[in-house]
Amino acid sequence: MSQKYVYLFSEGSAKMRDLLGGKGANLAEMTTLGLPVPFGFTVSTEACTRYYTDKMTIADEIIDQIEAALVVTEEKAGKKFGDPSNPFLVSVRSGARASMPGMMDTILNLGLNDDTVVGLAKLTNNERFAFDSYRRFIQMFSDVVMEVEKKKFDEIFEEIKHKNNCKLDTELTAENLKEVVKLYKAMYLKEKGIEFPQNPREQLLEAIKAVFRSWDNPRAIVYRRKNDIPYDWGTAVNVQAMVFGNMGNDCGTGVAFTRDPATGEKRLFGEYLINAQGEDVVAGIRTPQPIDRLKIDMPGVYDQFVKTAQILESHYRDMQDMEYTIQGGKLFMLQTRNGKRTAASALKIACDLVNEGMITEEEALLKIDPKSLDALLHPTFKPAALKAAKDIATGLAASPGAACGRVYFTAEDAVEASGRGEKVILVRLETSPEDIEGMHVSQGILTARGGMTSHAAVVARGMGTCCVAGCGDVRVVEGAKSCTIGGNAVKEGDWISLNGSTGKVYLGAIETMPAEVSGNFATIMGWADKFRTLKVYTNADTPFDAAKAVEFGAEGIGLTRTEHMFFDPDRIPAMREMIVSNTEEERRKALAKLLPMQIEDFKGIYKAMGGRPVTIRFLDPPLHEFLPTDEEDIIALAKDMGITVDDLKATISSLHEFNPMMGHRGCRLAVTYPEIAEMQTRAVIIAAIEVRKETGLDIVPEIMIPLVGEVKELKYVKDIVDATAKKVMEEQGVTFKYEVGTMIEIPRAAITADEIATEAEFFSFGTNDLTQMTFGFSRDDAGKFLGEYYSKKIYESDPFARVDQKGVGKLMEMAATLGRKTRPNLSLGICGEHGGDPSSVEFCHRIGLNYVSCSPFRVPIARLAAAQAAITNKK
Ligand code: ADP
Ligand code: MG
Ligand code: MG
Repeated sequence: MSQKYVYLFSEGSAKMRDLLGGKGANLAEMTTLGLPVPFGFTVSTEACTRYYTDKMTIADEIIDQIEAALVVTEEKAGKKFGDPSNPFLVSVRSGARASMPGMMDTILNLGLNDDTVVGLAKLTNNERFAFDSYRRFIQMFSDVVMEVEKKKFDEIFEEIKHKNNCKLDTELTAENLKEVVKLYKAMYLKEKGIEFPQNPREQLLEAIKAVFRSWDNPRAIVYRRKNDIPYDWGTAVNVQAMVFGNMGNDCGTGVAFTRDPATGEKRLFGEYLINAQGEDVVAGIRTPQPIDRLKIDMPGVYDQFVKTAQILESHYRDMQDMEYTIQGGKLFMLQTRNGKRTAASALKIACDLVNEGMITEEEALLKIDPKSLDALLHPTFKPAALKAAKDIATGLAASPGAACGRVYFTAEDAVEASGRGEKVILVRLETSPEDIEGMHVSQGILTARGGMTSHAAVVARGMGTCCVAGCGDVRVVEGAKSCTIGGNAVKEGDWISLNGSTGKVYLGAIETMPAEVSGNFATIMGWADKFRTLKVYTNADTPFDAAKAVEFGAEGIGLTRTEHMFFDPDRIPAMREMIVSNTEEERRKALAKLLPMQIEDFKGIYKAMGGRPVTIRFLDPPLHEFLPTDEEDIIALAKDMGITVDDLKATISSLHEFNPMMGHRGCRLAVTYPEIAEMQTRAVIIAAIEVRKETGLDIVPEIMIPLVGEVKELKYVKDIVDATAKKVMEEQGVTFKYEVGTMIEIPRAAITADEIATEAEFFSFGTNDLTQMTFGFSRDDAGKFLGEYYSKKIYESDPFARVDQKGVGKLMEMAATLGRKTRPNLSLGICGEHGGDPSSVEFCHRIGLNYVSCSPFRVPIARLAAAQAAITNKK
């Protein structure tokens, strides 16, 4: 027997979501539950995939199955497709596995033509209704299937309304609507060069193909990428007998939720529209009534609906979002699904459902999208204020949250303005380490250049500051005190607002409100901690960030970037001095200046972490991040160092690298200049000794050597660490445990992980570098061409945001296995940006890592994602 591609609603169930899509599976489930659902059938997602492999044609065997299902559906309805005396009409509705709201368009009233419309009018004794349905069908079919713009029809419709002095669609008479139909058909002929298709079977096949095609439209592609939905899932098509909400005043159509999707409050929440069809409710043509009005208008129907809603909610054990139509005082259910909701309402509903005894804690955790928690951790715009605002440009949503402030163009001006008590938005071409202080005092950061892993984006996310990066509509000239944003002139001191969660930029000040962490949030996090096995650490470079992370539930620090402590304006000179030193002696002199600062930094972090594990990574950065570029800075540095500007310039140019990301950085610095590792070890150990003394905490420092690709280079640096640590401990007359481990971020380290593990006591996957080195493209440059790769379907998602499990993930898994073969108790973690990405967290759980480490604001997200990973992988 050939494969089954078409399923009657009576043959499916909610479990068959992958095959029937969400809408189809739930229509089948409701049918089986005995709820009033117009009958129909679903053409499966496999038929969609087959359509694409068959070069966009529907195979004959599938057409035969559609035909057979259509005959059964006709018989149930007691009507016939194309029969003028008793015409059968259907809707053609798309439905993918995951709901993709608004992505694909529905066609209603299919089966109407010049003959059946007359038949329908006679049969219902309602000519107005018949022609209203026909004009809707012509417009939808032309728009969705034949790509004749909807607007062209809207114009005709408005003109007829105007000509006949009608304000509402419902005021048009049958005669008016006949004229609309005539003009629509003429428009179709003019646009397509052929008559509007009259054969219902041809209409049906064309509509099904159009749904399949819509899977690949640009809107759908963008939505899928944003929501991690794979292309090969495909969409199903539902063909369903029509019921009519537009037959008169005992008819209507509406949508409703079993709980309030904004707050989570338990009450029926929804709207309906009398004498209307399908999209009218959402299209805003007439103002819909709240569903409570239905109680007055049609009490019987209302009671039945309330009961149905209860049945569905307890059946699905989740808040439902339902669509329904009333025909001649009779209720029909057209859709149900787990309703979309705000983050706050998701938490409330999950807690309430557990309290009501409807679901378990584990099920509650699975209902919350970890990424959505983000919205609760950052300020948001006041909804009313946002409504009145107009966006003027869009960039990358680089760091979430909402902000408003006055525009300043340099870090110094930002600092000064904030000193005067102003709220500041820093606008830069792109940011660099020199801007750190300015970034710190800003409410938000806007850059014209740079991607999701640009300096501005990474640093802003770390600070939890709102950032819109790479906004091409910003024209800003270095040194100028004004710019244009989306064509609007903006000068220093002007107010703008940013939404780092959407990438939108607004003119003027939109009031914000602070993040609210409610009781439900804490409850959910408590449950998450109960079920997860992965630990959640944080990436933090300052005591402030560390303390914030602990507040959000971090159990340790997986990464402290020691170089980030030197971005500070009063520290950067010493750091620069160290980098441009020509002799060991000069370098030691500069390092001696850095030592006390570093000790203080580490002490602050140890204290903030209260004895929790702290992993400190030794100096790593590509040097160009620190080299002075401003003439002013160069002159000052030369003076500090007592050398001539020309000599300094010569050194700087000798340090120039063609590819700094793969240049003299990471442990290569310690191999060439062991005194750097010595100083850093000294700082780590002395800080630990002092904090141990002051607090009595058992501090066990973990020293992490970056960018290792060969066990011998790790051993070389580790020997320096061990010798220095021994010396310092002897000097101070103490001994305690510390650990030395490494980053796995060079493919060769992953491949030779069994060797590396002979020296390393722990591994931490540096997946930012591991990704760029595995793919062979730089994260700073990839933004320029990755767009093309997405649109050409070579890559589906950003490998810097989501671990590429096939390639990079394989290296990680290999390194984990090899490493533990050498050292069974090897501790494994991840400290790349991926550590806070839910799908990557799930992957880390599966390959047996001990912890994930992410920026403070993503800690709650990782905690929930880790719990979900533990729960789903247990099943
Ligand atoms: P979406 O996925 O955009 O919600 P749907 O397929 O649910 O699209 O269709 C949108 C609306 O069209 C439904 O809410 C319903 O009002 C109307 N509709 C769809 N199928 C039918 C039908 N068989 N009878 C009457 N109305 C229908
Ligand atoms: Mg719908
Ligand atoms: Mg790295």
